[in-house]
Amino acid sequence: MSDFISVNLKKLKDNKISNPEIDLRILLNYSRCCENEIILSNFKTEQIDIKKFNLLLNRRILKEPISKIINRKSFWKDDFYVNKYVLDPRPETEGIIEESIKIFKDSKAHFKILDIGTGSGAIAISLAREFENAEIVAIDISEDAIKVANNNIKTKKLDKRINLKKTSFENIEDNFDLIVSNPPYLTLNEINNISDEIRNFEPLIALFGGENGLDFYQEFSKQIYNKLKKGGYLILEIGATQFSDCREIFRDSGLNFLKKEQDLQKKDRIMIFSKL
Ligand code: GLN
Repeated sequence: MSDFISVNLKKLKDNKISNPEIDLRILLNYSRCCENEIILSNFKTEQIDIKKFNLLLNRRILKEPISKIINRKSFWKDDFYVNKYVLDPRPETEGIIEESIKIFKDSKAHFKILDIGTGSGAIAISLAREFENAEIVAIDISEDAIKVANNNIKTKKLDKRINLKKTSFENIEDNFDLIVSNPPYLTLNEINNISDEIRNFEPLIALFGGENGLDFYQEFSKQIYNKLKKGGYLILEIGATQFSDCREIFRDSGLNFLKKEQDLQKKDRIMIFSKL
């Protein structure tokens, strides 16, 4: 291994970066000026722009997530542009796409979907790919997030399929066959204890759900009924300990609770309701 590699690996390790080899390889490739993919074992310094590399490495040492440094995160079947104004799409949220496919088996069906708090647009875009005739509305209250979603929707040439709006769910008057959301749901206590990676580089507005994490569900449960069509579905992401609270909160919503699903870590993560 070259000295350059061992010195920089040590810097990452000393700063408690958890996957130093993987991260180093990504950063080297992101600053490379040669054509071929760089691997650590036969690396030569002339393969990279050293100045650029050092800047990137310092950002990682300051705990900026790799996704925010390279402005890219994979979700479902795509790569998405991300920055500090949107939550990185997370693997557990892919459960929303999986459940949508289980419910609406016909990928060619003409139906209407609303994604609340779209952020990077990852959920709306993934649903647009899975349901080629669905008409999708994606909303967010953050102007900066809307710019990111717009960028992703345009790059993927889905601007005719996804109607992106800066607004809150209270202002939506239409009704839908499917409503999905990964709302902010962390409690004050959780916010106070999250990693520096999240606290310093992901938007609080997408994470913090009020003192008990339930603010969104409380407001939304009062308004959901008229926004769903008869026979429509709501698929919601929840925090790992929020199932029974959310079950209570939605008891008066007029919707029928169908089931909950767990994520790959066996934590409660998704709730599904229908309007009978
Ligand atoms: N699952 C995210 C986290 O724990 C939180 C997402 C959210 O609040 N919607 O970082």
